[in-house]
Amino acid sequence: MIAEATVVKNAGSHYLLSDLPVWRPFPAVLRGRIRLGEGGSTNPVAVGDRVRYELPDGAPQPDLSHPALIREVLPRRNYVIRRSTNLSRQNHIIAANLDMAYLVVSLYFPEIKLPFLDRLLVTCEVYGIPATIVMNKVDLYRNEAAEFIADFHRIYEAAGYRVIETSARTGEGIDLLREDCRGRICLFSGESGVGKSSLIKAVDSSLDPKIGAISTAHLQGRHTTSLYEMYPLSGGGYLIDSPGLRGFGLVSLEKEEICRYFPEMLRLSENCKFVPCTHTHEPGCAVKAALEDGTLSPERYNSYLGMLEDDGKFR
Ligand code: GDP
Ligand code: ZN
Repeated sequence: MIAEATVVKNAGSHYLLSDLPVWRPFPAVLRGRIRLGEGGSTNPVAVGDRVRYELPDGAPQPDLSHPALIREVLPRRNYVIRRSTNLSRQNHIIAANLDMAYLVVSLYFPEIKLPFLDRLLVTCEVYGIPATIVMNKVDLYRNEAAEFIADFHRIYEAAGYRVIETSARTGEGIDLLREDCRGRICLFSGESGVGKSSLIKAVDSSLDPKIGAISTAHLQGRHTTSLYEMYPLSGGGYLIDSPGLRGFGLVSLEKEEICRYFPEMLRLSENCKFVPCTHTHEPGCAVKAALEDGTLSPERYNSYLGMLEDDGKFR
């Protein structure tokens, strides 16, 4: 019998699969020849992968002594890789088929760094992962910073991103966020201190990223420590939380490519006189014209310039 399921945990050569949306993880191993993933990755199967598996002969149910046999990895909608820093140049696929990246920011404590947010957004665009911005700790600055918040909405919504306001402290916006996660494989990312762990805990009180656990209570099977794991959210949906995903890894782009990952600049650049246009010094540049007439945000444009200077290599 051949069936399909999703990889919910990757612990070296052992895996747990579950036929999402049903959460009933069972063990699996790789068996036989399997088509290797993209780009010569060190791991052919990653959390989030949809796979075809077989049961070993005579086993009605997969269990630890009769694990399911993974035969094939189905094509990925997207994936996040960690490029290895050593000379082997092999890439490690951290996660695949993500439905949404929630990029958590806070206006203060720590002070928001728009270039950092824009880099995360570009990274999501490069990987093909939809992104939603979560503006957390609004209980601290909603009134004082009303104007900034309104501008922030305008700029990022014009670029095509949703902005959800939350407070992990007061619970504001948490129902909305929980609802948003439903049915999705979600990733939370953000600078340390913005309240990412508190938000995850507010969305599902059984999860506690700070004590390292998101507890293993959900999963049957061996207590192997694993950095690559998916957790079911009590309100529906699944959370991928891994140290390797915090910075999303290194993305490397050609200079001319960078602007393609700023959706509002990509639209504008159709009207630039020169192709390619770096939108810095070229005459007849529609991006610079938009900057001058105020339709393009100077902050977004500055983030773009910063990335050009870094030669398209960034974390
Ligand atoms: P992480 O590093 O992003 O995981 O951040 P934490 O979840 O550890 O939160 C960092 C600090 O911010 C802690 O002291 C939290 O209590 C606090 N915090 C988190 N969310 C909120 C919020 O919505 N409002 C306020 N006022 N404080 C928050
Ligand atoms: Zn241009």
